[in-house]
Amino acid sequence: MTELQQVTDKLLTEGNITREEAIVLLNNRNKDTQALLASKASETAKSIYGNRIFIRGLVEFTSFCRNDCYYCGIRHSNKNASRYRLTKNEILACASHGYMSGFRTIVLQGGEDAFFTDELITDIVSSIKSEHPDLAVTLSIGEKSRKSYQAFFDAGCDRYLLRHETADSEHYAKLHPSTLSADNRKRCLFDLKDIGFQTGAGFMVGSPYQTIENIADDLMFLKALRPEMVGIGPFIPHKDTCFAGHPHGDLDLTLYLLSVIRLMLPSVLLPATTALGTIDPHGRELGILAGANVVMPNLSPEDVRAKYNLYDNKACSGAEAAEYLNSLKEEMRSIGYEIVTDRGDNAEFILNR
Ligand code: SAM
Repeated sequence: MTELQQVTDKLLTEGNITREEAIVLLNNRNKDTQALLASKASETAKSIYGNRIFIRGLVEFTSFCRNDCYYCGIRHSNKNASRYRLTKNEILACASHGYMSGFRTIVLQGGEDAFFTDELITDIVSSIKSEHPDLAVTLSIGEKSRKSYQAFFDAGCDRYLLRHETADSEHYAKLHPSTLSADNRKRCLFDLKDIGFQTGAGFMVGSPYQTIENIADDLMFLKALRPEMVGIGPFIPHKDTCFAGHPHGDLDLTLYLLSVIRLMLPSVLLPATTALGTIDPHGRELGILAGANVVMPNLSPEDVRAKYNLYDNKACSGAEAAEYLNSLKEEMRSIGYEIVTDRGDNAEFILNR
């Protein structure tokens, strides 16, 4: 048996691999192993969630950001970025529109925008929850103090998405200014888990300077954190950032990692991301067939979608839009899956509550 086969067997039987084994898996990736892991990963997802695909209505409510992440199109120093913020009423209208269309989870995502104080965020969360008690609310608004996270939780927020971006401090420092650190990002994630949020971590595949060892460290970080959600998607360059012209992340490597993550964390909620759908017209379906079980259509008002421009050619029309939910349903049906009206909680989280 080759080293790759031994590691693959271990992943399939125990769902648990070491950093060294992850490196073997990544260095020796081939078509047969990729196909085997994808089929086992999608079987695993089906054994827990059936052929159900959960949808999250994404509301990108502000493109203002105080941070200057070198890869991101809405970074503070990008003077060409169009800045906008939705009002509380506009955000509530998006939530209601989503609810009427069949969404039972809404994700409020934005840059780190001081206009949205903790008081305003808690007010928005509690207003949504009082209008729609069975709508899960997810926030994705970056790094905050534990006290702020607690206030969001107490207001009724159910989930929080904060990709760790990269678990390696040196790699982190090549992607971010010195005001940001991998340690603080991780502190936030452990705080969020501890408070009781269903918590999402994740990283970009193919980000500048990323090595195989970095990815192995990311997998080990996920193993230690045990997040309820993991968001991974290819890095895609943005023309007004430091990494313009850098190649985008590899489709097959992203799909391979989706399968590995599903096998390591069987009940994880794993989106086939917008970035995956941006680098390949069938990226989303391929993601589902590799073990993903979530898609996140855009629920933001039409006139701001193009302004939340994280990377070049970001998909923000067609099946990405909530209005195109029907074509998304068709797309999923064509590969044997059903989009469902459901909060789509993490099965293990619900069991251990
Ligand atoms: N401010 C919040 C935060 O920091 O988590 C949420 C917004 S942030 C723009 C959302 C995610 O977009 C990041 O976690 C990052 O992984 C992803 N992203 C940013 N620029 C990207 C790029 N060029 N390619 C792919 N993903 C990107």
